[in-house]
Amino acid sequence: MENLSIPFQGLKRNLLKSFFDVYKWGKTFETIDPRTGGVIARVAEGDKEDVDLAVRAARQAFDDGPWPRMSGAARGRIMIKYADLIDEHKEELAALDAIDAGKLFSQGKALDIPGVANLLRYYAGAADKIHGEVLKMSRELQGYTLREPIGVAGHIIPWNFPSSMFFMMSAPALAAGCTMIVKPAEQTPLSALFYADLAYKAGVPAGVLNVITGYGPTAGAAIASHMDVDKVCFTGSTEVGRKIMQAAATSNLKQVSLELGGKSPLLIFDDADVDKAADLALLGILYNKGEICVASSRVFVQEGIYDEFVKKLKEKAKDWVVGDPFDPRSRQGPQVDKQQFDKILSYIEHGKREGATLLTGGKPIGKTGYFIEPTVFTDVKEDMMIATDEIFGPVMSLMKFKTIEEAIKKANNTKYGLAAGIVTKNLDVANTVSRSIRAGTIWINCYFGFDRDCSYGGYKMSGFGRHLGLEALHKFLQVKSVVTPIYNSPWL
Ligand code: NAD
Repeated sequence: MENLSIPFQGLKRNLLKSFFDVYKWGKTFETIDPRTGGVIARVAEGDKEDVDLAVRAARQAFDDGPWPRMSGAARGRIMIKYADLIDEHKEELAALDAIDAGKLFSQGKALDIPGVANLLRYYAGAADKIHGEVLKMSRELQGYTLREPIGVAGHIIPWNFPSSMFFMMSAPALAAGCTMIVKPAEQTPLSALFYADLAYKAGVPAGVLNVITGYGPTAGAAIASHMDVDKVCFTGSTEVGRKIMQAAATSNLKQVSLELGGKSPLLIFDDADVDKAADLALLGILYNKGEICVASSRVFVQEGIYDEFVKKLKEKAKDWVVGDPFDPRSRQGPQVDKQQFDKILSYIEHGKREGATLLTGGKPIGKTGYFIEPTVFTDVKEDMMIATDEIFGPVMSLMKFKTIEEAIKKANNTKYGLAAGIVTKNLDVANTVSRSIRAGTIWINCYFGFDRDCSYGGYKMSGFGRHLGLEALHKFLQVKSVVTPIYNSPWL
């Protein structure tokens, strides 16, 4: 991993040295380049006092400002301008996520950044279609419902998809007419600051979208427990999700939406094309270096094709290129930081100690940065820690099954329920298994089949929110019933 460079010297000089330096006032913290472990920039360390100021601005913008009062079409026009500005800056934004989170630059430029611009356009199109219903009540009463914005929303987001996570919550909240405070993860604050600046340039009114950079237990906790925040949307680990619920319960009983961890199964049946199934399984665990909540970290293969599958997987894993996220040949960049790197390696050591066999990988790569080999364990037992815990890294647990019933039972043997994949040509098997697995999204003969119109979220301890689709918009709206007497109605 030697000779790493930032290909965007202009970005390094102008953006990091001038744009982010304005945030040097007061306390700051370092944000680190995971390719080298070096410091990229210092960023403001927001705390409770800063959260108070941001919430005051958001409250005022909601109670007295134009955003919730303007027409949905007018909000939509500003959101479309915001999306266009994001498209114009997609290279810088993809570069920021690459140096801050170790994400592949090519993927950021082609998928993540255009994806968030399109997400804004999707919800911009929905902003003028928010309406309630006319209620048919009785001969004496008539009524209707209104869908009103919930108010001030607090968004606490993780580091694995800094751009997508920012807009999965902000885009529907903006369309609904809410105002908000967004706290990016302390590991990846840079693109969020850029997005705040672009919102201002697009004409989003002051106080509507406030970004606070800082740590979870201080800035994040202050948002979750704030008396003037009406809803808190949290995406992150199950452990912190629990704390968010407690903070909401002991403050103002604000609404809570939780998108948490996962340990998703991929079930591959005997009739599958083994070559394609092996590609899918690798993608399912190695995409975004395994730092993805829906990663297929448990792969179950039916016994008839198991041996052939193992052979293919080993060959394909060898060809998987790990390297600088700016190098177009790389398929996997570094893990986000030292803590995540150490955590993944300690799970690998634990897997070995528990008696699982390393089919491939298992070691760090290079002397600098946080790169880890694509790692596959066989001889895994369902109760081993590598098969029960969310590792959030490029580590697959490969297991075998005989019957459909056994596959379903094994797939459901987890406290999580975020996603699952099924590979089979048999429609009956696909239908039975997809209805039997307790998870929010099921992919049949594909994986990561995301679309902005297709909501996803958790069952069980993976949470209870829904990202994407109109489901997410409705999470930022509340229903008000308006009732009035009616006299001498000619019909019921
Ligand atoms: P994390 O829970 O450590 O942190 C997430 C966010 O919460 C960060 O902004 C952090 O600063 C903040 N935070 C930490 N402690 C807090 C506290 N006490 N009060 C308030 N805020 C606090 O998670 P992470 O390590 O950033 O992200 C990885 C986790 O996120 C994984 O478990 C992954 O599965 C999950 N995730 C879930 C989804 C989903 O849609 N379900 C998507 C992406 C990531």
